[in-house]
Amino acid sequence: MKFGGTSVADIDRIRNVARHVKREVDAGHQVAVVTSAMAGTTNRLVEWCREAAVLHDAREYDAVVASGEQITAGLLAMTLEAMGITARSWQGWQLPIYTSEAHATARILDINGAELIARFKERNEVAVITGFQGVHRETGRITTLGRGGSDTSAVAIAAAIAAERCDIYTDVDGVYTTDPRVVPRAQRLDKIAFEEMLELASQGAKVLQVRSVELGMVHNVRIFVRSSFDKPEDIDPHATPPGTLICDEGEIMEQQVVTGIAFSKDEAQISVRRIEDKPGVAAAIFVPLAEANINVDMIVQNVSADGATTDLTFTVPAADFDRAKDTLNKAKSTIGYERVDGATDVTKVSVIGIGMRSHAGVAARAFQALAERRINIRAITTSEIKFSLLIDSAFTELAVRTLHSLYGLDKA
Ligand code: ASP
Ligand code: MG
Repeated sequence: MKFGGTSVADIDRIRNVARHVKREVDAGHQVAVVTSAMAGTTNRLVEWCREAAVLHDAREYDAVVASGEQITAGLLAMTLEAMGITARSWQGWQLPIYTSEAHATARILDINGAELIARFKERNEVAVITGFQGVHRETGRITTLGRGGSDTSAVAIAAAIAAERCDIYTDVDGVYTTDPRVVPRAQRLDKIAFEEMLELASQGAKVLQVRSVELGMVHNVRIFVRSSFDKPEDIDPHATPPGTLICDEGEIMEQQVVTGIAFSKDEAQISVRRIEDKPGVAAAIFVPLAEANINVDMIVQNVSADGATTDLTFTVPAADFDRAKDTLNKAKSTIGYERVDGATDVTKVSVIGIGMRSHAGVAARAFQALAERRINIRAITTSEIKFSLLIDSAFTELAVRTLHSLYGLDKA
């Protein structure tokens, strides 16, 4: 059971979480709980680090920001004990949860679940574990997994103790076909395949940290996204509660062609014009961007018409737009191009569904529907189970609603 920041935002809510845990324990389940920091806490800690020293040591940053989860894990264990449930808190280094040394963006390498399993059996003890943090084995220093990392902690711990399921309790009651704030007729999905969820999360849906889905897919940990605001006493622990199960596609009987639509407004488009069409230019462009740690997406290169020059378009996070242009400027003499054009008021809309593998013409229908609404498409990329369109941000809502209806996702 993993509880996000809003679910543990104060003592009352922690008590509510404890009642959810009690329900599962009473039903005879062995339970490990992963907690986030109270809502807003991590932001405040990050802010303090910046105020203390702009160029701070990432190891000390981790020492500071990991502390939010220590508080909630301790408070929850205490609350459970007060309710008569045997529980203890664990910090990352105590299990231990070993990670890489990449402070602030560490990756989990190995988790020792043996002690937790032994205690389930011997004492029926609930383990309350700090999300977000781990420890680097060689240096012994505390690490954190990147913002939103407690989802990843939860899935990794679920794998380490061979859990039947990893329940992610959050402030929404599942994964929707698209953002319900934009499309009121969006529907909650009962099930979604790992691959689809991975695409949804990478393309802008903010329910889960992308890496948690990746981990779930690799270790085949079934992830269930559900609301922590449902009253614990109203839930039958043996029935299927409302929520979305992220699972292997083999578990999904009725597969729609399109499962969901994601969009991201935080995109910027960069077009490099009249590049010399010769071996090595793509490397000359993208290696410096990679070295600057700029994440590139939607790469589109045209086939040269004159055999001499070509254009190359790609997207970067809007926050990296200026840095990306600087990087290209500095590399201008090695790359050899005429000019760089860019736009920041663009949105990437992605249509996702495993059914696309076996259906032709799925994207063509979208092009038609958007044309009827006079929405211009700036760039298109496709993969096996997804296609993405870059459009002007002004048309985001109209485009997403149009596509949502087109693929039969609207709630009746
Ligand atoms: N508390 C951390 C954050 O806010 C980790 C998490 O909640 O997932 O990013
Ligand atoms: Mg989160």
